[in-house]
Amino acid sequence: MPAKTSAKIVSLSTLKGIGPAIATKLNAIGIHSAMDLLFHLPLRYQDRTKVQPIGSIRNGYSAVVEGEIRACDIVFGKRRSLLCKIQDGTGVMTLRFFHFSAAQKKGLVVGKMIRCFGEASLVRGGIELIHPEYQLISANQPLPTADYLTAIYPSTDGISQVRWRNYIKAAFAVLNEDSIPDLLDSKYLSLFDSKNFTDLYSTLKLLHFPPPSVDLELFSQGMHPLQRRLAFEELVAQRISHLLLRKDSLKESAIEISEDAQLEQQFLNQLPFDLTGAQKKVLAEIKGDIARPHPMLRLLQGDVGSGKTIVAALAALQFIQQGQQAVLMAPTEILAEQHLYTFKEWFDPLSISVNLLVSKLPAAEKRQRLADIASGQTQLVVGTHALIQDQVSYQNLGLIIIDEQHRFGVDQRRALKNKREDDYSVHQLVMTATPIPRTLAMTFYADLDYSVIDELPPGRTPIETVALSNDKRMEVIERVSNACQQGRQVYWICTLIEDSETLQCQAAETTASELAALLPNITIGLVHGRLKSDQKQAVMSHFNSGDIQLLVATTVVEVGVNVPNASLMIIENPERLGLSQLHQLRGRVGRGSIKSHCVLMYQKPLSKNGKQRIEIMRSTNDGFVLAEKDLQMRGPGQVLGTQQSGAAIFRIADLERDADMIDAVVKASNALCNSSPAVANALINRWCPLAANYIDV
Ligand code: ADP
Ligand code: MG
Repeated sequence: MPAKTSAKIVSLSTLKGIGPAIATKLNAIGIHSAMDLLFHLPLRYQDRTKVQPIGSIRNGYSAVVEGEIRACDIVFGKRRSLLCKIQDGTGVMTLRFFHFSAAQKKGLVVGKMIRCFGEASLVRGGIELIHPEYQLISANQPLPTADYLTAIYPSTDGISQVRWRNYIKAAFAVLNEDSIPDLLDSKYLSLFDSKNFTDLYSTLKLLHFPPPSVDLELFSQGMHPLQRRLAFEELVAQRISHLLLRKDSLKESAIEISEDAQLEQQFLNQLPFDLTGAQKKVLAEIKGDIARPHPMLRLLQGDVGSGKTIVAALAALQFIQQGQQAVLMAPTEILAEQHLYTFKEWFDPLSISVNLLVSKLPAAEKRQRLADIASGQTQLVVGTHALIQDQVSYQNLGLIIIDEQHRFGVDQRRALKNKREDDYSVHQLVMTATPIPRTLAMTFYADLDYSVIDELPPGRTPIETVALSNDKRMEVIERVSNACQQGRQVYWICTLIEDSETLQCQAAETTASELAALLPNITIGLVHGRLKSDQKQAVMSHFNSGDIQLLVATTVVEVGVNVPNASLMIIENPERLGLSQLHQLRGRVGRGSIKSHCVLMYQKPLSKNGKQRIEIMRSTNDGFVLAEKDLQMRGPGQVLGTQQSGAAIFRIADLERDADMIDAVVKASNALCNSSPAVANALINRWCPLAANYIDV
């Protein structure tokens, strides 16, 4: 057993090049110490150690290329730019400069050899490097040799790659092996891999500065033994934090909530329907939890459209009638806004005050809302992660409801929980539409009880799903037009291109203008992740009210949006999405009694896997069946939605990729919790520092 479990914390401000402004930016992405910097691992690496053939360069690649200059001209398009065409034996590409000097243009002489480094983009069918680094070279001039690959870091506003590399170097300069002790004994590491292990410090060093000989393919898949070693440690730490949290919650006290049948009846009377049997069953489980003097920690799973929101409302009512506040946290502003509408409709008649808190509000408005929350004037607060910001304080927080919990990390949940300041703990209800196989739930939600709504409300006509190729685009547009003429509303979903949010938003913009030109009599709205929050809200509220007939959107509408009059959804390039995500999207229609349709408009040729997924989507509407197939086809990471949402629940681990480690993770975490509390504690401090604040080890 390693003797040393605690390490000195070296603060960011002592590092060369990091002033208060940068430290604040780093803090915002969870980096608080020199050690945290070392755990900020590269996304990928650039190989600047070899020259790549131009013909092999694809969109998004970063590479060193060399070629002969074939042309160099200034063009006056939308923006004046300098275009320089270069060629080697394998292909041609264009270098594009928006800012350039006369001397620069003069230097780029046709016939000369040039060496460039940049990221390739596909522009009108051709490959371009925009503002590459370049130098003119003589024939066969050797590349300056580099000892290691160049790391590219996930970044945040205003921190360039060069700076990241400097910060990491600065952190290594002040930390040595003793500062980052090996916490996991090899007897634990050997549970998942029998290889000899590199010590943690060297592991980190190699990950930041890998030699060119390293297997980049393994790296890019996250399957390199160095990465797996870290992933294992992270998973063990995460599970320990769940186990300890569970243990703690049994020691904690919480306000006992007794049932108020009268208010509940009043609420139910105003609904145009009865609760389903499954909703009643789950509600009874919740009431059982909250009547006890310990905090509830319950995961509520229910398929898309199964009616989880009403259960949440009924739970909130119980608290509000007893003078406790309830908070509902949703992963997106669109969803938070949607919940605000729904809850206002339900709670206004009962004179319960509901309010919304999101990050971007006008200052005065925000101040007022914060004041109302702090004074208890607001009884139900709906919002995004803005709910956990420092400046938010609650008067009497009794219940936390998390919607679409797979979008949040355990840290965020805990930060919200910690907002209650007295000796009582907060009750928690976390909801998800993602069916979680029992073994996974036991492994990674070891701190939660589990309820399921396994029945859809009656009277739903199943959504009919058809698949059409992109050749039939005009027919599909005709269908959209017909649906709108019949007073229905339509979603048109543009999917992710090349993992880039910017490109995805551009695709949605282009599609919206194309549709606007073809469908002049239809009111079209556009919503994507790059809009400001008030713009998003405005579009969504027009869609809610029916003023917008056709909503062109990116997958931002994936979760929770509820517009029962929408009866048609077009999903472009569905082959790019997983089954669970398609199911979430499709669940936006079929919410009323009108027959609904979903058109999967794919791009030919379809891969075998893409074809199979589309066929499965057509064959069933059942989220459980789809989740099982998804699990078979893609593994748990996708099913839990951690990957597709991009939510950084894990820094390194990935439940799908690392699924084979789960048994070992369970064994190691149980053993450490039981017999080595100091190591368990140190692991949490290293990997889940926020969680550490709430766990009493
Ligand atoms: P989800 O579980 O996906 O969050 P929602 O709570 O948004 O689903 O519910 C979907 C729709 O079903 C809403 O329009 C809601 O009003 C309606 N609904 C919920 N429960 C019932 C019920 N028991 N009978 C009929 N409709 C219901
Ligand atoms: Mg929902």
